[in-house]
Amino acid sequence: MQTIETDVIVIGAGPAGLCLARALQRSGLRVTVLEREAEAGLRAPAFDGREIALTQRSVRLLRELDMWRRLPPDECHPLCEARVFDTDVRDPMRVGGSDEPLGWLVPNHAIRAAAFEAAAASGDVELHAGVRIASVDTDAIRARVGLEDGRVFTANLIVAADGRFSEMRRALGIATRMHDFGRAMLVCRVTHERPHEDTAWEWFDHGQTLARLPLGRATPAGHRSSIVLTLPSTRMRAVQAMDDAAFADDIAGRFDGRLGAVSDPGERHVYPLVGTWATRFVGTRAALLGDAAVGMHPVTAHGFNLGLLGVERLARELREAAQGGADPGEPVRLARYERGHRIATAPLYLATRGVVGLFTDDRRPARAVRAALLRTSAHFPPFRRLLAASLADRPGKNGLADRQTTARHGFAEQGDGRPRGADRW
Ligand SMILES: Cc1cc2nc3c(=O)[nH]c(=O)nc-3n(C[C@H](O)[C@H](O)[C@H](O)COP(=O)(O)OP(=O)(O)OC[C@H]3O[C@@H](n4cnc5c(N)ncnc54)[C@H](O)[C@@H]3O)c2cc1C
Repeated sequence: MQTIETDVIVIGAGPAGLCLARALQRSGLRVTVLEREAEAGLRAPAFDGREIALTQRSVRLLRELDMWRRLPPDECHPLCEARVFDTDVRDPMRVGGSDEPLGWLVPNHAIRAAAFEAAAASGDVELHAGVRIASVDTDAIRARVGLEDGRVFTANLIVAADGRFSEMRRALGIATRMHDFGRAMLVCRVTHERPHEDTAWEWFDHGQTLARLPLGRATPAGHRSSIVLTLPSTRMRAVQAMDDAAFADDIAGRFDGRLGAVSDPGERHVYPLVGTWATRFVGTRAALLGDAAVGMHPVTAHGFNLGLLGVERLARELREAAQGGADPGEPVRLARYERGHRIATAPLYLATRGVVGLFTDDRRPARAVRAALLRTSAHFPPFRRLLAASLADRPGKNGLADRQTTARHGFAEQGDGRPRGADRW
């Protein structure tokens, strides 16, 4: 049996795990990343349909981690405005519309590739890909991870960053609250006729939720967006089974013609919608990170953004420990990470669950409440500012414009100055 000593073991080379590994470079800590997937899949991850809306704060963090410059510029699309619609409400809630984008849309596979490249460029990170973990145990003295090939890694701290259905979380004896939304989410890139104006839509319709995420400049073929369709899983199967032409027509119809004609659909990816919330974020010589700690419903686009907040917080604790010659697995540090991260994530996790529950409930009382909420937001700038601040991680007061109408993107006027009237999109 070969025993390998290190300081921090990160389990999972997803975006959260790799960002933490990179954030610990030159801290003096030896970091070992253990990943189930083969290295080739990490170096050049396959497209998985997810377009990640990054807040400005996340972009700043990715810059600090030397990752932002590694992303292909033609894969980073500005998100200037977001509009939330409800079929029962005439006017949408609008967020953004100022000169600075709310955030950026970047495909998940590109983030993963950039994170891998940045972590691999860090001399202090050792990556073991394609490994199978056989055992995990921790005590007050040391943490140990045994691999199926007989190797044993020991460290001061294990960080489980192995995703929302984390096996390591279970192995560490940490329970999780799971909420199955009973729906599936389909994501797919399409070309469409009408311009997207760098504006995202979220449309809570009867029986379905739709979103449209703008993907940069028009091509001669048309405008490119990612569409997001949420349906009960049973109804999703029929959509998955359609051929490309039928699917494109189906999407054009679901958007009620607001995209114009839809063509050239890319690969479709479907995700089950399950939110997870670990009952503890730390254990003895162990911490949970990324989706392993908090698995958000994607509707508010916060999963990875919160993951990055966790990276920042945990890295700060571990770097401080290393600077002071202290033990990075000290309970007091882990407790601080846990407290801070729970406070930072709980309101959004709970609010998202509440919003999704309310906005996908087609019964009459729920529809009346959400219509009232959206109408209130139209006349209550602080509510919109709060949403804007949470989307962009900037204080509402100095941050995003909360204009209800703008000439550039707005509903009040078309490009020619005519009132839009019936066309509210
Ligand atoms: C459709 C969709 C849209 C989304 N949109 C947004 C958005 O707009 N904005 C946003 O911020 N977030 C968004 N998210 C969430 C975001 O994708 C996740 O929060 C993020 O990918 C989580 O990263 P992670 O590293 O924690 O986990 P993962 O990406 O799940 O990575 C986990 C890693 O651990 C590895 N692993 C698993 N088990 C083991 C094991 N036993 N041993 C070793 N390795 C293991 C896996 O192979 C993987 O590499 C979206 C999610 C979905 C599904």
